[in-house]
Amino acid sequence: MNVATELKTVRPRRLIEEMPEYHPPLAGREALRLDFNENTVSPSPRVMERLRQITAEGLTKYPEREPAERLVAAHFGLAAGQVLLTNGVDEAIHLMCCTFLEDGDEALIATPTFFMYDVNISMLTRGLVKVQSDETLGFAFERFLAAITEKTKLIIIASPNNPTGATVSREQLLAIAKAAPQAVLMVDEAYYHFHGESVLGDLAEFPNIVVARTFSKAYGLANLRIGMLAGSAELLKYVRKVGSPYNVNGVALDCLSVAIKDEAYVAWYVEQVRIGRERMMAGLDELGVGYFPSAANFVLMKIGSKHKELVDAMRKHGVLLRNRSTDPGCDGYVRITIGIEEHVTRGLEALRISLDEIGWKRVSESASQQAGGGVREFE
Ligand code: PMP
Repeated sequence: MNVATELKTVRPRRLIEEMPEYHPPLAGREALRLDFNENTVSPSPRVMERLRQITAEGLTKYPEREPAERLVAAHFGLAAGQVLLTNGVDEAIHLMCCTFLEDGDEALIATPTFFMYDVNISMLTRGLVKVQSDETLGFAFERFLAAITEKTKLIIIASPNNPTGATVSREQLLAIAKAAPQAVLMVDEAYYHFHGESVLGDLAEFPNIVVARTFSKAYGLANLRIGMLAGSAELLKYVRKVGSPYNVNGVALDCLSVAIKDEAYVAWYVEQVRIGRERMMAGLDELGVGYFPSAANFVLMKIGSKHKELVDAMRKHGVLLRNRSTDPGCDGYVRITIGIEEHVTRGLEALRISLDEIGWKRVSESASQQAGGGVREFE
């Protein structure tokens, strides 16, 4: 038997063949990373201290997640059963979809948004329903509410949203949870720190809400892959069944335990981003670049037809940006991450030079930009 020939007949599940793929541009990132919304500098110094204490023998052990889970739960004022630590929010999304969706179920998201929702939902059901924003790129609350049906089983909303930086108000989120008691509403608060509004305090009253938080952004631990789900212990019991008991590695668990205690570090980093975001938006105003006012650690800029040229020019000046032009409704948009003061300064300088180099015209100087661009046109 020729195994190579035989293997051609092995097929994955139909939905796996049909689902989209996500390939973020991870190669060649030795430059100022203003492309992935990471922390641009470092985690708490306590994390580095903890890393130095890792022993060879410690690495031979399977990780125990529960002690860190208890610490995190206490930190957020929750019971231990209400928290599940995950391998980044990426895994949290995957586990939620595997736990609650089967083919035929509807899952509701608002686009443009984080692409991993689409990937994870599509591998389980053909019932993905997308509510596309209008040209303002804000959350279409009324249309979203109207898209809920009795088949809706899972709703995922990022607030602040990626790639827009738009928010969905707490009142709107609670109204959505109320309108869909048969569904789980997963509120992805990956960028919570840069905005400050949360539904974590509403879990007791709204048992169908599950909140996702990541330690990849404000905490600066993206490389360790750690995130969490918070929600009713009853719902999370099902999610726990789906996940591996060893889903988060022990180095990440150890580091998380010290990172959450260093509140001063997170407060400092968040303040850097808040100030930097204002500076970036003021800088874009000056340059005549339109943008979506952001509540996150990034700003979505409306560049127009020269989007790719700008990203290439910036790379030549040592600054990475993320082209979002292929996101639905985002043609001509490029995203820039906000980091610490020095990185915002370098980002703005490179932007000024690059826009000039590619011959990008200010709104007042270009008819095409007037048609499509505009300063703070989305406010
Ligand atoms: N949710 C949103 C909205 C994101 O933008 C991202 C990362 N880009 C994630 C989740 C994934 O976060 P993590 O690193 O915890 O997997």
